[in-house]
Amino acid sequence: MRLLLSNDDGVYSPGLAALASVAAELGEVRIVAPDVEQSSMGHAITHSRPLTIKRTPIGEYDAHRVNGTPADCVALGVELWKDVGVVLSGINLGPNLGHGMWHSGTLAAAKQAALLGRRGIALSTPTGGGEPDFVRLRPWVGRVLALLLPRTELTLVNVNFPADPVGLCWTRQALNTYDGRVVPGHDPMGRPHYWLSVRRVDALEEETDRWAVRHGYVSMTPLRLDLTDGAALQQAKAQIPLDPA
Ligand code: MN
Repeated sequence: MRLLLSNDDGVYSPGLAALASVAAELGEVRIVAPDVEQSSMGHAITHSRPLTIKRTPIGEYDAHRVNGTPADCVALGVELWKDVGVVLSGINLGPNLGHGMWHSGTLAAAKQAALLGRRGIALSTPTGGGEPDFVRLRPWVGRVLALLLPRTELTLVNVNFPADPVGLCWTRQALNTYDGRVVPGHDPMGRPHYWLSVRRVDALEEETDRWAVRHGYVSMTPLRLDLTDGAALQQAKAQIPLDPA
């Protein structure tokens, strides 16, 4: 199976190398990743300028860097390497949980795969101030990939590893709290500026991705591309009749 690897931390991220070392035991690996960090770029694509793809040495892997976004990398990777089976994105240095999925470039790379009729798996882990211990995570990454890769019905899965996992858990996206916040401050000249940051979420609903990771479980959330609110659509059709189609 051809496994296209990407991320949003950039082609030289230790998380990508850690993922490649596990993936190479399960399939044929090629890396196509951004040349610089693209975290929190979401599902942006580059359409106002051309992209370049350049071979770049990452250990023994067939690796390439692109001057674009994670979604750009997957679009190019799938175009230039025939018969990609699954796109693996990560391992991100930082979690992608709950509403944070909207901002995630890591998840966007996996979503781009799903848009192109391939399968995508996004993998993330918290940093907690230091570098993640990828040696400790390695058997858990292996277990997750061995479990997910054969399951062709799972087209898009968001996986989050706690720092020191105790088990695996199927989860749903935590929706009760958005953790984004604006942090005001001042620059050295005294001028106001603002950081877009996150806050800790303590209200955890059971069986959600946040809950699982907080309790030491590897969270695996199957996702879909359909954003339509089916219940709201039915209600709107019933209560607000529009022009007959
Ligand atoms: Mn990132």
